[in-house]
Amino acid sequence: MYVAGEWRRAAREEEVRNPYDSDVVGVASLAGVDDAELAISAAVDGARAMRALSAFERAEALRRAADLMEQSTEELARLIALEVGKPLAEARGEAARIPALLRTSAAEGARMHGETVPVDAAANGAGKLAFTIRQPCGVVVAISPFNYPALLVMHKIGPALAAGNAVVSKPARQTPLTALFLTRVLLEAGLPDNAIQCVTGSGAELGPALCADPRVRKISFTGSTAVGREITRVAGVKRISLELGANCPLIVLPDANLDMVAQATAAGGYVNAGQVCISVQRVLVAREVYGDFVERLTPLVEGLRTGHPLDEQTSLGPVISETEAMRVEGVIRDAVAAGATLVTGGEREGAVVAPAVLTDVDPALDISRSELFGPAVALTPVSGIDEAIQLANDSDYGLGAGLFTSDLDSALRFASEVDCGSIQINSSPLWRSDPMPYGGLKGSGIGKEGPRSAVEEMTELKTVVFHRG
Ligand code: NAD
Repeated sequence: MYVAGEWRRAAREEEVRNPYDSDVVGVASLAGVDDAELAISAAVDGARAMRALSAFERAEALRRAADLMEQSTEELARLIALEVGKPLAEARGEAARIPALLRTSAAEGARMHGETVPVDAAANGAGKLAFTIRQPCGVVVAISPFNYPALLVMHKIGPALAAGNAVVSKPARQTPLTALFLTRVLLEAGLPDNAIQCVTGSGAELGPALCADPRVRKISFTGSTAVGREITRVAGVKRISLELGANCPLIVLPDANLDMVAQATAAGGYVNAGQVCISVQRVLVAREVYGDFVERLTPLVEGLRTGHPLDEQTSLGPVISETEAMRVEGVIRDAVAAGATLVTGGEREGAVVAPAVLTDVDPALDISRSELFGPAVALTPVSGIDEAIQLANDSDYGLGAGLFTSDLDSALRFASEVDCGSIQINSSPLWRSDPMPYGGLKGSGIGKEGPRSAVEEMTELKTVVFHRG
């Protein structure tokens, strides 16, 4: 781990294993509460140093980091593939986004600004000059999940540094090596001492120490809704962004291009073995085209090839652990026991679950209501846009939703009535571009990521008023 300006080993360590075959990928420290404490103390110093940098200097450091990342994307991709078990092609896609994400963060950090405030619009404001200025928060704690171990770490670290903060990164326990790789490259790019700390280990152990500490001004968390809730319980008075779970719906209306929807579902439901917060989990299909859609989707899903993440032929890898695979298998089995039809997939071998399609799924079932985080999609027939919107909204979550139609009125209704943070017309909810504001409503979270939004949420606004002397 990297704490207080040094690469260190904690007293306890553990092996990081590829979930496909349990081969050892590396060894990582299991930091303790003392290490978390030291990381925050060092970050307080780092925050002072970061605040003293000009926007130009911060942006230059991040642009250098982007250049360095560009030279090592293949190495990064292989590490991601091995740690998470995702197919190499997907890992390459993730790694390739990092340099641009750093550059966008640099640009947004350099654009941070306030505005003049017309205080003279109030009776007591005549003759005064007022404006706002933005300044860094100070110490940002960045806690991230396993499923996009580079992208979701960098969506926090990039904007945090761009905005002039110091950051304590706590990556997922399953994927510490990718975060350490990113830390090393950022350090090579030249940041002030202590601007970045990376503590690896158990979230249950380190999380409360990092989140409750009053020297931390901002927590940026991506992970499950359960842990997000726990963070709000211990955090106290500080800024918090939460990017949490979901069970994203995709609506298919009768006029949709069914081949296009089938392709989008076969990608959107199974990328990273369905372990994506915006993966397609529920497909609500107009009755008129339901049968045709099942016919088009099934062969595409059956064509997904499971295998070792580094095998170029593999299009679907394992989920993160055998325990998780057993959980996913159980949810599929329960859905079948409750009357759903398993058209294909669902069998498990180790941590690999064969990609599954379930039809005629009662929307009250767990597979439609909870977050699955596995390679299965639940299809439910609907009577039309009204029922589809009602079911889309009948969820504790609200991260992403997609609609396929060429009917403008339905698209407009969908955009204005569905309560999700990301609304995709003629795409699956899986679509994301890194600069866009990204974050959920309802149980899916609070706040937005995307460099522009994150810079805003990682800065404080002050109002300055000049009175006549
Ligand atoms: P998780 O909640 O188990 O863990 C996320 C992080 O929180 C890890 O670093 C973990 O060590 C840490 N943690 C655990 N207990 C903690 C505690 N008490 N206090 C503070 N931190 C603690 O999630 P996961 O299994 O790694 O990832 C899957 C989840 O992440 C899914 O629910 C998924 O939807 C969600 N996710 C959301 C988004 C989004 O943008 N909304 C993106 C990706 C993943």
